[in-house]
Amino acid sequence: MFTCDNKRMEDKIKTFSKFGDAGHGGITRYSLSPEAHQARDEFVKRMKEIGAVIETDDMANVYATIPGTESGLKRIVMASHCDSVKNGGNYDGILGVIGAMEVLEAVVDQSIPHRHPLTAMIWTNEEGSLYPPAMMSSGVVCGKFDKEKMLASISVLDKTTTFGDALNASPYKGEEKNRLNPGDYQAMFELHIEQGPILEDAGKDVGVVTCVLGMFNYRIRFFGQSDHAGTTPMHKRRDALHAAAQALCYLHEEIDKLERPELVYTTGEIVCHPCVHTVIPDMIDFSIDVRHEDPKVLEQVLAIVKRLPEREWAKCRCEVQLAWARDTVYFDKELVGYVKESADELGISNQYINSGAGHDAQYVSYIMPTTMIFVPSKDGHSHCEPEYTPVESCTAGASVMLNAVLKEDKK
Ligand SMILES: [Zn+2]
Repeated sequence: MFTCDNKRMEDKIKTFSKFGDAGHGGITRYSLSPEAHQARDEFVKRMKEIGAVIETDDMANVYATIPGTESGLKRIVMASHCDSVKNGGNYDGILGVIGAMEVLEAVVDQSIPHRHPLTAMIWTNEEGSLYPPAMMSSGVVCGKFDKEKMLASISVLDKTTTFGDALNASPYKGEEKNRLNPGDYQAMFELHIEQGPILEDAGKDVGVVTCVLGMFNYRIRFFGQSDHAGTTPMHKRRDALHAAAQALCYLHEEIDKLERPELVYTTGEIVCHPCVHTVIPDMIDFSIDVRHEDPKVLEQVLAIVKRLPEREWAKCRCEVQLAWARDTVYFDKELVGYVKESADELGISNQYINSGAGHDAQYVSYIMPTTMIFVPSKDGHSHCEPEYTPVESCTAGASVMLNAVLKEDKK
């Protein structure tokens, strides 16, 4: 068994935490921003130092490859993203990039024999914080998103610059022929923080990820009547917010009756019209995001949502509409097995886990064998500045990835 180097990992974590340092323990590093380019420059500098060849594709994804001993074999790639959400942490995404770098560094440093070329990679714009949607480049490369539509995505900050503008201004924009593709690549691994509390609560160092949860996202709308807040008697009102509040409580009660502890659901967005403190709202539109591995459970929740319009809600009309949905994405069984075996053989405590969050790996799994490795998130925090994973866990995750890659290399 081979292991990664804790000191070298720590140095990388500290160094990359400087790029976009927001001054209170975390980073803001939007995709293709000057800060994100600093992180890429550091990646390229360090990868060139170990003799890797650098390539970029038309979505500015960056690839650093060291050769294998046999010619004509496909590459094995390890990838994640270096962009963050606003006031995000020092681990989401970048840990997978650092872990990929660390694996290549360990292979070169210890002269670990390997047949296939090995690639460390950065995906562009995973978070979609500045230019929505999330997982943009993996979506384009893996055929999920239309590139032209993505190029037209407008900055949520200045409402003017497009993703295409940012891409054209980036020195990392390369050629389409360099894209990750199943003809040149055999498999992809992604190391990532869990972003939830399960591994920490269980006292495990590594999560062997089996799937990304299926989900649906509905919009639920209530239509009432706007009237004066001071002159309209309560019994004459058709208050859309009152209706929506009742419906939201009803949803929680009914969904909780299913008694599925792994089921998660969230109302994170609400639109109120006219949103004036002296006017009774005539329209409320809220989201519900529901996630579970089993499509049958999702269908049970869906049935509850779809029944809403049949009920009486403070004399308001109710409408429900599907925004989007995705099926559970299962990772490659053989690669999942390599991750499990590697963790066991290294004596690293581990368990199977699923991912409630989306990742580039889920789109890549459409085009080639793919899997993920999780490490614990302290107190389950993520997408925030307190996001933290002890360096020993980060190194354990990288060591598991190294050995899993070597198993794939022998195949
Ligand atoms: Zn991420």
